[in-house]
Amino acid sequence: MSNDTPRGPVREESHPVVIIGAGVGGSVAAFRLADAGVDNLVLERGRRWPITPDGDTFPTVPYPDKRIIWLDDKPPTPVCDQVPWLARITESITAAALPRSTGLLDVLPHKNLTVVCGAGVGGGTLVYGGILPQPKAGPFREVFPPEVDYEEMDRVHYPRARRRLGAADFPDDVLAHRRYRSNRVFGSAVEKAGLPVERVPSTFDFDIIRAELDGRAKPSATVGQYFFTGCDSGAKLSVDRTYLARAEATGRTEVRPLHKVTAIAQDADGRYRVSAERLGVDGDVLERIDVLCARLILAAGGVHTPRMLVTARDTGALPLLNEHVGEQWGTNADQLPLIRTIAVATGSRQGGPPTFLTRNADGSALLTQGGQPVPVETGLLLCPGVGMSDRFGRWTYSAATEHAHLRWASGSDTTGRRAITELLHLVARHIPLGGVGLNPLAPHPLVLHPLGGAVIGKATDAYGRLHGHDGLYCLDSALMPGSTAAVNPVLTIAAVVERCLDHVIGDFTS
Ligand SMILES: Cc1cc2nc3c(=O)[nH]c(=O)nc-3n(C[C@H](O)[C@H](O)[C@H](O)COP(=O)(O)OP(=O)(O)OC[C@H]3O[C@@H](n4cnc5c(N)ncnc54)[C@H](O)[C@@H]3O)c2cc1C
Repeated sequence: MSNDTPRGPVREESHPVVIIGAGVGGSVAAFRLADAGVDNLVLERGRRWPITPDGDTFPTVPYPDKRIIWLDDKPPTPVCDQVPWLARITESITAAALPRSTGLLDVLPHKNLTVVCGAGVGGGTLVYGGILPQPKAGPFREVFPPEVDYEEMDRVHYPRARRRLGAADFPDDVLAHRRYRSNRVFGSAVEKAGLPVERVPSTFDFDIIRAELDGRAKPSATVGQYFFTGCDSGAKLSVDRTYLARAEATGRTEVRPLHKVTAIAQDADGRYRVSAERLGVDGDVLERIDVLCARLILAAGGVHTPRMLVTARDTGALPLLNEHVGEQWGTNADQLPLIRTIAVATGSRQGGPPTFLTRNADGSALLTQGGQPVPVETGLLLCPGVGMSDRFGRWTYSAATEHAHLRWASGSDTTGRRAITELLHLVARHIPLGGVGLNPLAPHPLVLHPLGGAVIGKATDAYGRLHGHDGLYCLDSALMPGSTAAVNPVLTIAAVVERCLDHVIGDFTS
């Protein structure tokens, strides 16, 4: 806790249901509860990022300002000790170069990898690329427990989540524009390689993208400002504008931005005690509050949910959580490699979201390509890939440091990385003078898809109820089994949480 925490009494409040985190899982949960007539309070550490008529909501890349990094305190975990230059850069960014701010991107250096996740009302969807692929049945069955039936998910929960997230297919007229040249280069190479070409469903409003292209809206998605930041034009439909907006419209969901949860516990009377700090936008602590509730939903994402749970179990605050809490944490084997070419123009300032994706034969690796915000011709295509991990990491609590730490071994994603690299080579071969460029982050991955640590069917029952403590739920990426079966995770997180709520909603209404 920061030194400037106000002294004096902690204010107490009571609410029937508290949700920690206003990202994907938290927004789906808030909507489903509100829709069922259940009042709920959402505590979110970050700010709101409302789209303004002036088009100045978000910091931009590659010229950010202090709103880009979440920095209310020092990183809770030791910085990477394998790549000292990266550690120095990260430290200087987080500790000195940028002032304290409740910014958009939470950068969390750990030994062997660095995780990046979104902070704010909308969570990761404020900064995500917006793409929503569905996994193939084979990898899904390999990863998820049999109770999570792929046929049912395919029939009921995936279509429902796509609809409620606001997914749309990429239209031809937008693809034809010069701002989407790099997408066409990638799509044509995938086709020539004989690989399957899939149009990517994404949460973008293509009418706003058209308005950007013809000068009626501020260029943002169309000049590469769509990934690692938000779209000032409003083209990206983050969950604060879909699920959570619908929840708030019922009057049953109250969202409190700039409320950071610092601890969770269960009192002797069975109620959960959620300790929170109310923050100013610079991260200073303005007030301390304890919120008491009968039911508590953790939706703080794939780092903070396992961190909070492991800490609560091992400090005795939630002592009955089982031994699986903290286990099976994975990266989705996600990679950010490059294809280079000197023979084909890939375009400066290229638009997103990605139009096309391709997969290998068994669906165990996926490759896509989006835009880029650099204002010069680079001859590079950034091709994010997702695969399957060989091994998982785990969270453990150290009484000596009073922190939870992530242990994840380098080499855990070797098979996934190899499968992504094979796809890259196949595609690059069909781009004149194309080659697979460096994967500069390979030795110390930048992980955008932290998953697991409170896994469905292990730490929880088949519907997200944490074993050991009645009325305690995990409904976010921590519930995923360290992987979303070789696809970007948001659609699967939303669909799995929808499925869980179909079963547990009666716990809240009875
Ligand atoms: C740059 C980037 C690009 C991505 N692109 C894609 C993509 O194209 N497609 C895709 O499917 N996925 C993508 N992802 C991944 C996706 O954003 C995450 O998998 C997803 O948002 C996780 O959902 P969640 O509900 O678990 O957590 P989140 O959406 O991260 O929400 C968790 C929320 O909890 C809040 N929180 C955390 N700790 C506390 C606390 N102590 N107190 C109060 N609140 C707290 C956070 O601020 C956050 O708002 C991307 C991620 C990044 C970083």
